[in-house]
Amino acid sequence: MGQPQVSSLSSEQRRKKDFEYKIEDEWWKKFSAWRDVSKEEFLDWRWQYEHLINSPEKLFRVFHWLSEEEKKEIVEVSKVYPLLINPYYLSLVNPNDKFDPIKMQCIPSKEELIDKASPEDPLAEESDEVVPNLVHRYPDRALYITTNFCATYCRFCTRKRILGKAIVSGVSSLQKIVDYLKQNKQVHDIVISGGDPLTLSNKDLEKILSELSAIDSIDTLRLGSRVPVTLPMRLFDEELLELLEKYSDLLWLNTHFNHPNEITEVSYLAIKNVLKLGIPVNNQTVLLKGVNDDVEVMRKLMLSLIKIKVRPYYLFHCDPTKGIRHFRTTVWKGLEIMEGLRGHISGLAVPTYVIDAPGGGGKIPIMPNYIISMSEERIVLRNFEGSIVSYDPTGRALTKKENQRFEGIISLLEGSFDKIDSLDSERIKRRKSTSKSS
Ligand SMILES: *Cc1c(COP(=O)(O)O)cnc(C)c1O
Repeated sequence: MGQPQVSSLSSEQRRKKDFEYKIEDEWWKKFSAWRDVSKEEFLDWRWQYEHLINSPEKLFRVFHWLSEEEKKEIVEVSKVYPLLINPYYLSLVNPNDKFDPIKMQCIPSKEELIDKASPEDPLAEESDEVVPNLVHRYPDRALYITTNFCATYCRFCTRKRILGKAIVSGVSSLQKIVDYLKQNKQVHDIVISGGDPLTLSNKDLEKILSELSAIDSIDTLRLGSRVPVTLPMRLFDEELLELLEKYSDLLWLNTHFNHPNEITEVSYLAIKNVLKLGIPVNNQTVLLKGVNDDVEVMRKLMLSLIKIKVRPYYLFHCDPTKGIRHFRTTVWKGLEIMEGLRGHISGLAVPTYVIDAPGGGGKIPIMPNYIISMSEERIVLRNFEGSIVSYDPTGRALTKKENQRFEGIISLLEGSFDKIDSLDSERIKRRKSTSKSS
């Protein structure tokens, strides 16, 4: 489809110091509605805002091939959960793919209306709201909900409850939040989220950053924003970049790529602009059925992220929020994916898989079992290849047992054997062929 993919960049291209990535391809012109839109317009975030697709009718003007049935479904669902997509994000859809991962993330589906019983706020964020728009759950950090607006509404939004309501700016609660933080000096780290804080005006964002950074006990300001994914050209705005630079000593950016198709030339340039300011960029992915619940897709996503210097931070299990249940897959699938990442690809590309506990228990990390068995003197572990090792957990000097009495895992616990190698391991085969085996 001529979609610009940064993953297709050769390492030679990326190594070149003077390399400036040029947006050669005008991929949006494949949609007749945007045939006459110039590069200057399409890459201007103001143009994107002016052409927001915020009604089914506007969507049908671009996706004119939809059937009457599909149109009816979109109209019905968007009455309950509004539709909002900017042209850039919509242009990443491959119209020939019925199950396109971008389409699934932004186009309403009738499955959103099936679930009537799930809670709207499963994480009970509202119960931990200490002052309006500030959720204080963990000892040393808090979450500031600065707006309920986003550059695109994700169908799987965990805060679906606030999406599409009248736009409320959290800036009005800023003074109360500052007062609270001054009285609660144990809070050092503020997650500035929403909605999307990078949809705020530069003026409002400046107000937030200047007030929060002036509090002595605050060391870290984390922007939680999907703008690098859904509206990357916002990060071409010089005024915004200057503003971010001013607070770069405190700033981190946590963004939210879910699929390799979202990593485009434009998002690459946006990330580069942020990194240049000395602001580290991390990524939080949500495990979504039909979008990225696949080992190969997830490997490609994570490896493409580290190519653009974005560090995978969390892989979230999808919350049981009303209206997003159809995006949930099993925890077994999540564990299978983690099994396919750890050890197999660069450790830099491996996120922590977490479940956000219902009721406000916070994030709980989960991973495949690497501990096979334990005794007082030994812990038996397995590695990503399936090799099994016996390890001294005590720090004491251990002696091998004289008489080998046991077979299997108990022999490792009892100390007569140290390891059982996986027969299929490439590493073991390599060792045998270079005969340096230990
Ligand atoms: C996720 C979250 C944070 C940040 O948690 P980390 O594990 O430090 O990334 C803070 N507050 C709330 C309410 C959160 O949900």
